[in-house]
Amino acid sequence: MSAQFYEHSGEAGSSSAGTLRILQLYPRDMNIYGDWGNTLVLTRRAQWRGYDVEVLSYDPGDELPGDVHLVVGGGGQDSGQERITADLQARSADLRAWAQGGVAMLVICGLYQLFGHRFLTGQGSEIPGISVFDAETVAGDGRLIGNITTTSETFGTIVGYENHSGLTTLAPGQAPFGRVRSGDGNNGKDGTEGALAHRVIGTYLHGSLLPKNPAVADWLLQGAAGAAGLEWVGDAVAHPSLDGAWADKARAVAMSRPR
Ligand code: GLN
Repeated sequence: MSAQFYEHSGEAGSSSAGTLRILQLYPRDMNIYGDWGNTLVLTRRAQWRGYDVEVLSYDPGDELPGDVHLVVGGGGQDSGQERITADLQARSADLRAWAQGGVAMLVICGLYQLFGHRFLTGQGSEIPGISVFDAETVAGDGRLIGNITTTSETFGTIVGYENHSGLTTLAPGQAPFGRVRSGDGNNGKDGTEGALAHRVIGTYLHGSLLPKNPAVADWLLQGAAGAAGLEWVGDAVAHPSLDGAWADKARAVAMSRPR
């Protein structure tokens, strides 16, 4: 089967700034924390700037579409990770080449773990990853759950919610996505959260991440425009919904809540 086609549209009446193709990776097995919300935010923010957007989905056994500019993948249980592992390994070279070629990607939680070298489960099995990140994950004894705030030079303050048992360790040269201000992050010990390589973000933050962090969404879209060979229109296009006022309210509430 070929990847499923969801949407092709822009803002009515506006001239197109070009087409961005977004691929949702493994939505059947890896989509448990409202991860689809990330794709919705990317789609709308692109459309508000005048881009047309095509959203495709890819599940195990599908034909991998070409000419993808942005990949989004979500969280899943260990069982979901096991279900996609053979297919992910078969796609490893393609996905790594896309990452190295500048395709923007956001992978959350379970898929973040599998974008590292491996995940060792609580049952003692090893799920191999695709090594986009120089990192590995080992199942912990408890779960790290709750609101989390991190900071980053690129993105400022990042707000989200984490829920994982895997403890991820970054290799010394591997950049994190953010530094933990409150919460646990990769492992509850070293103050790192997520990983960043090329134009690829891996993170434990969901809830979903992008509605509360439009700066991260725009960084991904800018990368997608670059991968598509299109000009990034940034905030040159004024659209009332781009200002982030609602996101600011959601961020303030999340940051005021105890874990
Ligand atoms: N197996 C992972 C963990 O709990 C799954 C992460 C997730 O997506 N919840 O560490």
